[in-house]
This record gives sequence, structure tokens and C-alpha cells, in this order.
Amino acid sequence: MSERKLDVQGIGMTSQRTRDRLVAALRERGISNEKVLEVIRKTPRHLFVDEALASRSYEDVALPIGHGQTISQPFIVARMTELLLASERPLEKVLEVGTGSGYQAAILGALIPKVFTVERIEALFRPTRDLLWALGYRTIRPSLSDGSWGLKHEAPFDAIIVTAAPEEVPPALLEQLAVGAHLVIPTGKQGAMQFLQVITRTTESSYRTETYDPVQFVPFVRQSTA
Ligand code: SAH
Repeated sequence: MSERKLDVQGIGMTSQRTRDRLVAALRERGISNEKVLEVIRKTPRHLFVDEALASRSYEDVALPIGHGQTISQPFIVARMTELLLASERPLEKVLEVGTGSGYQAAILGALIPKVFTVERIEALFRPTRDLLWALGYRTIRPSLSDGSWGLKHEAPFDAIIVTAAPEEVPPALLEQLAVGAHLVIPTGKQGAMQFLQVITRTTESSYRTETYDPVQFVPFVRQSTA
């Protein structure tokens, strides 16, 4: 992959108009949270993909970002963000597992005061960390780490979002939810049906699971248990 370029000039009329069209399409597909739609309208998704794919960056599709990974489809980003914001708990501090391109983190960064995001592939982590910094995101804290363990020293979180699909929910993520917090996570086998789930920690020791849209995510990779 060639380097992602900060072509801020490119955020001209054309991309604003294409972004507006994307927002209209998301609205039509059922995204109704105005805050989410507004952030998508303002966030330059084309800067989060390789230049060669920039022209497709406002289509409602997932795109490759190298290393076998993808930037999620805008509808899914919007849907997961909506589900996260639907929490009754005020969102001060959230964790994202699976930084990838940094686009979902940027969306969260515009809505939530403190965003921690972890990525396990160093070759994705480094350029994304630099990009988020260059774009002026100062409240997003990226780290190179295996999200199977969550991010213990920053827990508990007001919400956790996972952007890769495990077959089963990693217990550490459940443990790092504050009471009332949502975990938004796709689960299921690769190649089989996966579903978006919202798991709410209702009390110190109980959780409630709700199942939403069918989805298709790259695998959540677990390091060998140390
Ligand atoms: N949120 C990203 C989606 C990237 S795809 C975006 O907006 O672009 C999912 C990412 O999750 C990949 O980069 C993959 O490397 C990462 N991932 C998978 N398993 C992980 C794990 N156990 N810990 C941290 N990151 C993981």
C-alpha cells in the first residue's frame, strides 16, 4: 500500500457533496441519530483509505486497508455508533478494539470526550496513529495491543466497541464494562452468519444481550493465551 496522503484540498465541494449523498443513503437505510449523521457528514473518510481507493470512499461499502483488513462499511460504522450512543450511561470514556484505518475511532472522537483504541497489527497501528494526530484528533489514544485483554489500566469503560468478529465474547471486555455500559460487538464464525450484539452490564454480576443486524466482519484474532 502506498502512503496515505493528507490531501486536505481534496475535501472540496466534490467530496462534501458525495458525503452528503452518503448521509442521505444512510438515513434511507434507517440511521436516525442526527449526531451520528452529522459527524459522518463532516469526517473525510477518503483520508482513511489508500489514495487509489479515495474515489470510492463515499460509497456505502467496506474497502481494503492492507494486511487482510478492511475499513468498515459506513452503514455499519453508523449503526454501531448509534447503538453505542443509545446507552443510558453518559459516555465519557470508551474503548474501541480494532483501530484499523482509524475511521471509526475518528467518528467516536468527535462524539465522546476520551477514546482509547487498540490495534494488534503494528503496520496498521503506526500510520493510523500518525494520521489521527495529523488530522488534529487529540483525545483519541491509540495503542498497539491485543484487545482480547481489553485495556485494563484504563478500565472501567462507559462503552466498548469491537470492530472485528470473535466467535465468543472475550471475558476481559465484559469485566471492563462499567455498570450500565454497552459492549457493541459482532460475533459469529467466519464464513457463517455473524450478528451485531449489544451486551449491557446491568449490575456488577449480570449482563443482558440484544441481537441486531446480520454483519460480516474480519476475524477477531486472539493471541495465544499467555
Ligand atoms: N475500526 C476499523 C476496522 C478495521 S478492521 C476501521 O474503522 O477501519 C478490524 C481491525 O481489528 C483490524 O485492523 C484487525 O487487525 C483488528 N483486530 C483483530 N483482532 C484484534 C485484537 N485481538 N486486538 C486488536 N485488534 C484486533
